[in-house]
Formats: sequence, structure tokens, C-alpha cells
Amino acid sequence: MAYLSDELKNLLIAPRQVIITTHRDPDADAMGSSLAWAAFLKKLDHKVTVISPTEVPDNLKWLDPDAEVLNFENRTGGRAAAIDALQHADLVFCLDFSAMGRLKELAPFVSRATGTVVVIDHHLDPEPFAQVLISDTKAAATAQIIHALICEWDETLIDTAIAEALYAGIMTDTGSFRHNSTTREVHLAVAHLMQYGLDVNKVHRLIFDNSPLSRLHMLGYSLTNMVVKPEFRVSYMVLDQATLREYQSNSGDTDGIVNYGLQVADVVMTALFIERPNEVKISFRSVAEFSVRELANAHFEGGGHKNAAGGRSNLSLSATIEKFLGILPLYQEQLLAVKK
Ligand code: 5GP
Ligand code: MN
Repeated sequence: MAYLSDELKNLLIAPRQVIITTHRDPDADAMGSSLAWAAFLKKLDHKVTVISPTEVPDNLKWLDPDAEVLNFENRTGGRAAAIDALQHADLVFCLDFSAMGRLKELAPFVSRATGTVVVIDHHLDPEPFAQVLISDTKAAATAQIIHALICEWDETLIDTAIAEALYAGIMTDTGSFRHNSTTREVHLAVAHLMQYGLDVNKVHRLIFDNSPLSRLHMLGYSLTNMVVKPEFRVSYMVLDQATLREYQSNSGDTDGIVNYGLQVADVVMTALFIERPNEVKISFRSVAEFSVRELANAHFEGGGHKNAAGGRSNLSLSATIEKFLGILPLYQEQLLAVKK
């Protein structure tokens, strides 16, 4: 699929002041696609500022060796610099999200920006805030789209750092190449990146084998306390604030825990409830035709993909779980019909 439109080409032909931003609680696709795009645009002589709405998780900091990413939640530095850069930006790239709410407190500043807003994303149903929209909901990762864009421009601009960043996004968003999104094109893109000095084992280790012991203990706690509702083929796990504190949980530490819920035989949908200071964040995963995106959207102000979605609730933690258990009968027939 060709992504590089004349419109985008024209926007990039002369050096510009560029912002790249991504979703809150950035994952490896968010950071990998943003930093690869930043490195590429710098090679075209653009001036680039990367802004994250919230802190970059520790296991992704290697993607940003010069610590150039501004954290909008850092009120003593990142925020002021980010606001200043946004005011002077000609172009604002929004990568790996297409729902404004995912920018958290950065949202109003992006809405007010006078620069051209370009969304590059693979989530379903993009909201209409982009002036230029590059959306492919069949792409496995935003990093896959960025790879294609760079190749359409000039693939010789890829270097090892760009290849590693793109690989990080593709590897994680495909669940290490096991989700249905893992197409022939995904493997071809990765094979191509391997021409540029990419060490796949190194990237995997930096992301997955790089946890503080406390995170593994928190995983152990989550697994030990997992609840299974066999009559609905559903499992769920809960991390309340006291538990998060006990295990010194940082940004990104809870990523991936939800996936274990699907390892239980016969379970076809799982949820992880995380009690954050002002809301409960919920991650959903499902198999086959059961759409957690639909469920998250209908009941928890969320969205995402068919088999991986997220949402939130302003109820208490226990009331949120009650609400979840209360809606399961609505989906029972669908859940029982899923072939696992
Ligand atoms: P996670 O559970 O890993 O946080 O998110 C799973 C998927 O759902 C990701 O693709 C993420 O982009 C999407 N997602 C998570 N939370 C939200 C949300 O609040 N709104 C929307 N629209 N998508 C979300
Ligand atoms: Mn993604």
C-alpha cells in the first residue's frame, strides 16, 4: 500500500518546525514509530520536537538515548518547552492514536496548534481532527506504516537506530509476531530492516528482559489473584493503588500483564483493572471474533482493536468491576460461540 501522498510530500519538501506526538502511556509502537519518524525527518533537515503526554517507560528509554522526548507531565521542564514548540510548529504529527482523548492534558494544545495536523495511525475509526490522515487499520503497527513511508521516500535513509525503533514497534504490536495482524508484509518489512544492522535479539531483550524484580513480583501477584468466570469464558485481574505502590509500579510496568489472562484454557476474553489516581484504567483482550473494542467503546469510554482494547471508568475500583461483571450476561451468547 502506498502511503506517501503528494500532499504529505509537499509538506516535507522544505525544512519545517515539526512536532511529533503520540498517545499517553506510550508503548513501544508509540515511541518506536515516533523516534524513527523523528530521526528520518531530521535527515531531511527538519527541526523536530517529540512530545509524550506522559512519562516514557524505563524499558523504552534506550530508544531515546539523548533523552530528547519532552514529557508533558513534567511541569518543571517538559511542559513549558512542549507548549513553546507547539506554538511555533508548522507540522504536528500524531502517531499511533486517532482519538484526541488519548493525548490527556496535551489535547487542548494540539487542538489549538496552528500547524498542519497529520495523523499516522492504524487504529479503527479515526476521529476527524487530522488535516492529513494516513490511516491503515490493517497495518500491524504504526511502525509498519512509518517503515513504508520512509521506503517510499528513500530507503537508504534507514540506519540501525531507525531499524531498531521500527522493529520494536512491529514486534510488540504483533505480540512478537503471533497476532492475526502478522502478515507476509510484516515479515517482509522486518526482513528489510534486518539489512540495516538490526539485532532482533537485542531489541527483544531490551524491551522484555529488562524488568525490575518488583515488576515480576507484581505479575506474580496478578496471576495468583486472577479470577476466572467459566460460565462466561472470562478472566480478569485487578491492581489497586496499594498494590501498585507496594510493587513500586512505574509507567509501563503494567503493560503485557493483561495478556496472561488469555492463557487460561477456554478463556476467550480477559480484562485488567488498574486503579489510577483519578480513574480506573481497563485493558481488554479477546480471541477470534469477539470484539473488546466494541465492549470498551459501549461501556468504558474506550476503543482500540478488535482483540486488544482499552477504556476507563470514573467509578470506584469495586464499582467498575461490578459494572463489568454486570454486562457479561449481555455478551454471554457471543462469548460462548467463540472458537478458541
Ligand atoms: P492497552 O490495553 O495495551 O492499553 O491498549 C490496547 C489497545 O487499545 C491499544 O491499541 C490502545 O491504543 C487502545 N486503547 C487503550 N486505551 C484506549 C482508550 O481509552 N481509548 C481508545 N480509543 N483506545 C484505547
Ligand atoms: Mn500501535
